[in-house]
Amino acid sequence: MIEFYIIWISEAYIFLYGVVRVGKMYKRKIFSRKKKRLRYARIRTLVMLALIAVCSVAFFQNKGKSKDEEKLVNSYAIGTTDEADTANNNSVNADNTLINGMNEDYTDKKAKDDSEEEKEDIKSKKIDDWRLILVNADNPVPDDYTFELTSLDEFRTFDSRAIGDLKKLIEDCRRETRGVIWVQSGYRDRSAQERLYNDKVKQYMDSGKSREEAEKLAVTSVSKPGTSEHEIGLAVDFNYANFEFENTKAFKWLMENAHKYGFILRYPEGKQSITKVVYEPWHFRYVGKEHAEVIKSKGFCLEEYIEYLKNQQ
Ligand SMILES: [Zn+2]
Repeated sequence: MIEFYIIWISEAYIFLYGVVRVGKMYKRKIFSRKKKRLRYARIRTLVMLALIAVCSVAFFQNKGKSKDEEKLVNSYAIGTTDEADTANNNSVNADNTLINGMNEDYTDKKAKDDSEEEKEDIKSKKIDDWRLILVNADNPVPDDYTFELTSLDEFRTFDSRAIGDLKKLIEDCRRETRGVIWVQSGYRDRSAQERLYNDKVKQYMDSGKSREEAEKLAVTSVSKPGTSEHEIGLAVDFNYANFEFENTKAFKWLMENAHKYGFILRYPEGKQSITKVVYEPWHFRYVGKEHAEVIKSKGFCLEEYIEYLKNQQ
């Protein structure tokens, strides 16, 4: 600020000097009446006034700038306070995570800020997260597995803890793509799974396969009763559950965004040797945002991710 006072003092000095000079010139006009000198005096006065004007403009411009600078300083201060708050919240959240399981309400920004912390968290975390329950041919649904279901519509239900994310995913997908997406199948009870499986086996037997061959083929597309993810209410089949789904806007959107809602493509192309299930573009599994992000970024299937977590411990 000191430079502005110096400018003002200089301006005041120049102005006063000008006034004195003009006074002197007029005095001279009266007494000497030398017109030529008077003209020069007028020109000098004009030059001085111009200088004062230039200085004033420069001063007010600088003043404006200095205000902006002050604003910047303030906003930086606010910014750092926010960061401090966020850091505090993060540590609180980290505690909550340990106590309550992973908090699902992270914003995208926070998730990014937390990513390093989360990675550490995941490393040290035992794989007992309900969202990571592995159900496949070798890992049937545990007999004592209990959970609550919430209705998605008149016919379909989903795990109550994950249905919020599923609804949001469908809503956002519809809004952003203006495409068609609907849930054909969410939770299936054991008897529904039995019906599906028996139908598939029958289909193969009708085409001339032996029962043994038919069962072998059937399990690559319909899980045996007791080994289907649909029985734990965390898997969803979209639209007509066929390969046409791969060509839809909804599928493209899901491939880019599903992880943000905690969903993964459960049976990706090229992973059949691990999942023992053929590529199913329509079948998505809920694992939670934090896990889904890592699974997507590393190109894992769920089996690989769980192995990865075990090796981290
Ligand atoms: Zn499915």
